[in-house]
Amino acid sequence: MKTLDAAMLWTPGGWQADAGFDIDDQGRIVAIDSAEPTASASWIVPGIANLHSHAFQRAMAGMAERQTNPEDSFWTWRETMYRFAARFTPELLKDVAAQLYAEMLEAGYTTVCEFHYLHHAPDGRPYDDPAAMSRALVAAARETGIRLTLLPVLYMTGGFDGRALGERQRRFGHDLDAYLRLIDTLCEEAAPDLHVGCALHSLRAVPADAMKAVLAALPPAMPVHIHIAEQVGEVQDCLAIRNARPVEWLLDNAAVDARWTLVHATHLNAVEVQGIARTGATVAICPTTEANLGDGLFPLRDYLAAGGRWGIGSDSHISVSPVEELRWLEYGQRLITRHRNIAVRATSPSVGETLLADVSASARQSTGHAIGRLAVGEFADAVVLDTDAPPLFGLTGADAIDRWIFSGNRNLVRDVHVGGRRVVVGGHHVQRDAIAARYRAAMTQLMG
Ligand SMILES: [Zn+2]
Repeated sequence: MKTLDAAMLWTPGGWQADAGFDIDDQGRIVAIDSAEPTASASWIVPGIANLHSHAFQRAMAGMAERQTNPEDSFWTWRETMYRFAARFTPELLKDVAAQLYAEMLEAGYTTVCEFHYLHHAPDGRPYDDPAAMSRALVAAARETGIRLTLLPVLYMTGGFDGRALGERQRRFGHDLDAYLRLIDTLCEEAAPDLHVGCALHSLRAVPADAMKAVLAALPPAMPVHIHIAEQVGEVQDCLAIRNARPVEWLLDNAAVDARWTLVHATHLNAVEVQGIARTGATVAICPTTEANLGDGLFPLRDYLAAGGRWGIGSDSHISVSPVEELRWLEYGQRLITRHRNIAVRATSPSVGETLLADVSASARQSTGHAIGRLAVGEFADAVVLDTDAPPLFGLTGADAIDRWIFSGNRNLVRDVHVGGRRVVVGGHHVQRDAIAARYRAAMTQLMG
């Protein structure tokens, strides 16, 4: 049995002074008690779940920021991404993912949902072990200690019209039987640190009949994630071919409920905002990627008013920081409404606390892991804030979360525990140098 004590502990009921928790051999919190006042003045908050990641894209962050065409958009960025994706082997994927996951942990993410579509060799043929690329991600997660929800992606067509995958998309593709076999293979390896879910790439990549068949074949409680309504062009194509907007179509044609995570859901009308909120599904908002790609702005204010559930993802990894995602989620709303302090509720006037409470509340159902809150029965995934950093001097319970999220660009995470195991110490991942050395070699190869 391990214990972790805090001067201040952020629990579902708010800050608790001089509190600590007992952790069992599985890494779960079995009791929260009062603790001796500690000399270290630890302020502990729950680890953040990163609901949307494509690990390989970490290696191309910052490489698509030169204008190639006055009409540069998501679709021209995607061409760069495809060229880069073609270079990955399982070994390179493991080394890039390990770097990414170590960075996530240092930033305060303790779980990652990996929306994984780089399945096969570049020519589209399965590897001898069809799960080789998936196993590379599992190995990277295990090496770094981050908790993983692995979401193998079903990717079948190149557009709403059902056209075949293009040459550069072939390594993403499966037929239904091969896809379900991959899910079965990976489910056999599920463990406290590894949960397996299903990802449908998007409505344009999964025909309607295939979507129905795969949903019928999955275990009933399995998380389901899908990219949806990220692009205006996608909304227009869906309207033209399926005669409905993407979210409207999905809500009419699938039993969307609390096990679903809708990634982006950027372009919504008022009926769709209400519709998603009613289902209990989570929206995974990826503010820095959506800004980087010029996607558009999620209608957060209306969605919060409707009682909608949401979390964040770092998606393309143009930023690997929950602080920056949350900050820009709020700032986007301030810029468009010309008001301040948008993400609040009558019972929660602090923006930072409201944001943190919401991402904590969605973590469990979106990831499938017992995580998100520091409470009995959940995993002890915890972030210790760096109260020796000047931006946090003179901290009070009323302002701690707001100052963590809004007071500057220095990383204010000191230590990180996943299942009670300390994987970040003094701001550094315990394997930081070895992982970075392998990442350097991987980048040399990828750029060669
Ligand atoms: Zn994505």
